[in-house]
Amino acid sequence: MRGLPLDARWCIKRTMFQYQKTIRKAAEVSGVGLHTGENTKLTFQPAPANFGIRFARVDLSARPTVIAAANHVRDTERGTTLAQDGVVVQTVEHVLATLAGMGIDNCLVEVEGPEPPILDGSCREFANALTTAGLENLNAKRNVFAPQAPIFYQNQVSSMVILPCDRLRISCSIQFPNQRLESQHLTVDMDEEVFAKEIAPARTFCFYEEVKPLMDSGLIKGGSLECAVVIKNDEILSKEALRFRDEFVRHKILDILGDVALLGQPLQGHIMAVRPGHAANIALTQKLLAVVKKKHGTQAYRMEGTTYEQMDIEELLNTLPHRYPFIMVDRVLKLEDTSIVGLKNVTINEPFFQGHFPGHPVMPGVLQVEAMAQVAGILMLKKGENTGKIAYFLSADKVKFRKPVIPGDTLLIEVELTRARANKIGRARGRILVENEIVSEAELMFSIMDREAA
Ligand SMILES: [Zn+2]
Repeated sequence: MRGLPLDARWCIKRTMFQYQKTIRKAAEVSGVGLHTGENTKLTFQPAPANFGIRFARVDLSARPTVIAAANHVRDTERGTTLAQDGVVVQTVEHVLATLAGMGIDNCLVEVEGPEPPILDGSCREFANALTTAGLENLNAKRNVFAPQAPIFYQNQVSSMVILPCDRLRISCSIQFPNQRLESQHLTVDMDEEVFAKEIAPARTFCFYEEVKPLMDSGLIKGGSLECAVVIKNDEILSKEALRFRDEFVRHKILDILGDVALLGQPLQGHIMAVRPGHAANIALTQKLLAVVKKKHGTQAYRMEGTTYEQMDIEELLNTLPHRYPFIMVDRVLKLEDTSIVGLKNVTINEPFFQGHFPGHPVMPGVLQVEAMAQVAGILMLKKGENTGKIAYFLSADKVKFRKPVIPGDTLLIEVELTRARANKIGRARGRILVENEIVSEAELMFSIMDREAA
């Protein structure tokens, strides 16, 4: 066991983190859907740490969910459309922009149809509803992605780049070809206040010539001057006067914020966009996601969503005999034939921190080995012939503790089965990662017994 007190400077550096946020209580917003023209209700629900943003189609009997992730984007025509396992949610960008702009990391967004209400074409009503519900810190660290090198995307219309920066800064330029309207340019350093004041109220806009045929053919049944500013030749048609002189570029920034939220984690960097659109925003986000996956490897399981078999805490408790305070895994992120990845959020409330050590909370190494053993146990017991048995932990070999685990860390517990025959002895190799660095590793041996015999 490591008993050395931590280096003080290191401690300060590691503890300067932001907590993940959710909302304190549910928040509702109602209005017309842009495409369907039908009245619909959206409900923001609080969600636990590391849940991310998910949409639930509560109008469908199984209430299926769609994880807000760039690899679930199906379409970028007139808004960003997500689809997962055949379940579709359209026009998600303004909802996502609001959550990202307010710093909300975890939320279940229930929609009563295929799309959220379009409202006035801005984020204002969503932001008001969420502000009324109130925000709440969760006991887990925000995992901010900050690219270390420029990432580019360009197509025939748009040009995008993200540069390293010590904050989230968005610069955007738009031009109106063949119009007498002036081009607009704006740079904002995004935070909750700037979002609420400068970006959230900016309404969507469209060109009359483009929307007229769509309206005539019934493609945007909910479209009206109440949900968008319409530009007809050089004229601006809207129910309400422009909210900002440069409202259009502000809305483009709003859309960028919503689309890059599909990265699945907060972003730090300087996005520069020339004539952006949903297609370019999403393409840039997918490039970012590729960098995240390469860099953080396993951290991307959550964003990949249900491509893997997963288990929540209820299923875990049905599989493992352990109970609080001796259950060292919160969730299984990936379960395959011979490998498994578990997740544990380490919080200051863990009973072992009380004595280990007062003033210097460090997770005991032996409990990290136990975490690997429990995750390995799940993998073995999930194999058909072992269902209902107990994996009895025999020994740990080649145990190494590389870095201290402290409150706020999210453990990714990876275990690979190296031998698991029906002859009741199993071997596995395990390692625990925090922010993609190995904190501990071990080789484990088990025997699988009937519950009565154990
Ligand atoms: Zn928009």
